[in-house]
Amino acid sequence: MQTGKIGVTTENIFPIIKKFLYSDHEIFLRELISNAVDATQKLNAMATAGEFKGETGDVTIRVETDRKKKTIKVSDKGIGMTREELDKYLNQIAFSSANDFLDKYKDKANSIIGHFGLGFYSAFMVSDKVEVVTKSWQEDAPAVKWTCDGTPEFTIDEVQKTERGTDVILHIDKDSKDFLEENKIEQLLKKYCKFLPVEIAFGKEQEWKDGKYIDTGKDKIINNTKPAWTLKPSDLKEEDYSNFYRELYPMGDDPLFNIHLNVDYPFKLTGILYFPKIKNNIEIQKNKIQLYCNQVFVTDSVEGIVPEFLTLLHGVIDSPDIPLNVSRSYLQSDSNVKKISGHITKKVADRLSEIFRKNRTKFEKKWDSLKLFIDYGMITEEKFYEKATKFALLKNTDDKYFTFEEYENLIKENQTDKNKTLIYLYSTNKTDQFTYIEKAKNKGYDVLQMDGQLDIHLINHLETKFKDSRFVRVDSDVIENLIQKEEVRESKLTDEQKEDMKGVFSLKGKSGEMYNVVIEALDENEVPVQITQSEFMRRMKDMSQLGGGMNFYGELPDSYNLVVNPNHNLIVKISDDLKTSVGGKLSENSKELKRLKEELDFMEKEHKKKKEDEISQAEKDDLDKLKKEIQETENKRKQILETFGQENKTVKQLTDLALLANNMLKGEDLSTFVKRSIDLL
Ligand code: ADP
Repeated sequence: MQTGKIGVTTENIFPIIKKFLYSDHEIFLRELISNAVDATQKLNAMATAGEFKGETGDVTIRVETDRKKKTIKVSDKGIGMTREELDKYLNQIAFSSANDFLDKYKDKANSIIGHFGLGFYSAFMVSDKVEVVTKSWQEDAPAVKWTCDGTPEFTIDEVQKTERGTDVILHIDKDSKDFLEENKIEQLLKKYCKFLPVEIAFGKEQEWKDGKYIDTGKDKIINNTKPAWTLKPSDLKEEDYSNFYRELYPMGDDPLFNIHLNVDYPFKLTGILYFPKIKNNIEIQKNKIQLYCNQVFVTDSVEGIVPEFLTLLHGVIDSPDIPLNVSRSYLQSDSNVKKISGHITKKVADRLSEIFRKNRTKFEKKWDSLKLFIDYGMITEEKFYEKATKFALLKNTDDKYFTFEEYENLIKENQTDKNKTLIYLYSTNKTDQFTYIEKAKNKGYDVLQMDGQLDIHLINHLETKFKDSRFVRVDSDVIENLIQKEEVRESKLTDEQKEDMKGVFSLKGKSGEMYNVVIEALDENEVPVQITQSEFMRRMKDMSQLGGGMNFYGELPDSYNLVVNPNHNLIVKISDDLKTSVGGKLSENSKELKRLKEELDFMEKEHKKKKEDEISQAEKDDLDKLKKEIQETENKRKQILETFGQENKTVKQLTDLALLANNMLKGEDLSTFVKRSIDLL
């Protein structure tokens, strides 16, 4: 028997191993199985090269748990180790690399991805004793057993073992008892080892017999050794891709398309990415891509490795070139990772462009489910935007699809305003904004449908990209003003009458919303009263709701325009009624106001002739008094107009109709409206 001390000065690294990477204790299994796979593949390689001349035989890797003995055993039929190799690999290399690893990451246990690097010694995260029984492939090499109980001391003995390969036996410590549960081990094997290239057996297949499940004699194989991404695209049918998707996401909806990645230079990367159907919620779609390193599962949180928008995709990326045992911030600045990001972005864009070119009808059919992903990409990745302008689509309210260029050509002639700005009209809700859409269409305009989760952001983005263009929501102004053309519209009311209409229609929102009355001379066939909300205000509010940092706007009350059309007969009639019922009071008020203003004018002129200190206090007081009087007279007029408006059923009815058209007439107001309508009939 040989005893010794592992050749590193550090007193005792095992307690440290146990303490660190606490949440990642489970990776011990992945590390041991990876070693077993490596050993098996080395043997296969030597057999292929003719170096190993014996029978390779069954090389299935076996995992066994024994609850009574409190052990987990991982056995392989790989190359095994001689006594010298054991000493070199486990006592010197493995130990020192584990030690290095811990040294490096002691202070930042949290920032370590924690994958790989710890290797064989991760076994001590869950064990108080580890035994390795191994027999080398080399003829006549005696089998040896290495034992270590968690101190730097180890023993090596010669033992009886007839079969080639290595058994690693973990004596599970009392804090790690969970790992003796078969379910737990099976779950870990499925997580980390599902696609390893050598068969892994754990337990037996079961069958239903005499009212219960019993073990059959057949090994239960955990993994698919030839997952689709490792095969050649030319050997795969569409069906194979969908079957593989099912294997990855048994519960998922069928994906839209897939991309098979296969890069050799300047880095190695394979994989299959799927485009899922994304309807609305971006957040829940993330973290579905699984990252592998030579078929060993590493992580399913890939942010930092692929661009943000690609995290919406599903599938597998396998690359031995992504550095895994480093922090995420390092990962983002790693040049290989950057290249990989760029490459995947390009591949994805190329694939979309190919589908678009080959079969536009199919592409359009899938557009609604693809849109969110493509929008996200265009907004966040300049490189992707550049490529996407060729295939990204805009959908109008008639459900027709256009490329950016096609759409621009469609609207260029009719929707360019007097300042040469091209106006893109859009609707966020076809039902709610129906009347506005109709009006726009009647004018020969086209209206886009922008009801997606990211559309507000997309609109902002496109405005920075499209030259001399602006997006305007179809209900943000009266149709005549949406796209302002060179034309003057006459008004049937005088300026004073128009001013009075502002008072008559003044409206106070019940829940703090503000209405600004605007008199807009429109066609006489246009509605008499309508409600609009300015594009700017609404967009700022929408952005603040989406957390765009515009909190200031979010806190402002909602404000709307109440647009009154002085050319509509009903408004002319209200103006006439106003004259009949309070015309006397109003003209008296006008006269009074005129007189006061003339007086003010005169006084101000007088004051201007003098220097500031020549004006007496009495004169100043007079001026103030006059100003106050003017204010009071104006208020009086307002009061007269408001009272008239409050009592005039047509005014009330028209205002309510405008609110109703915007779905803004609710509760008590709605029932008052209904009663009044019946009365009027
Ligand atoms: P790594 O696998 O990263 O090289 P490890 O600490 O996991 O580091 O293992 C150290 C070395 O021990 C391996 O490189 C290998 O040579 C040897 N080894 C570990 N497990 C086995 C095994 N099951 N069969 C043969 N050799 C092994």
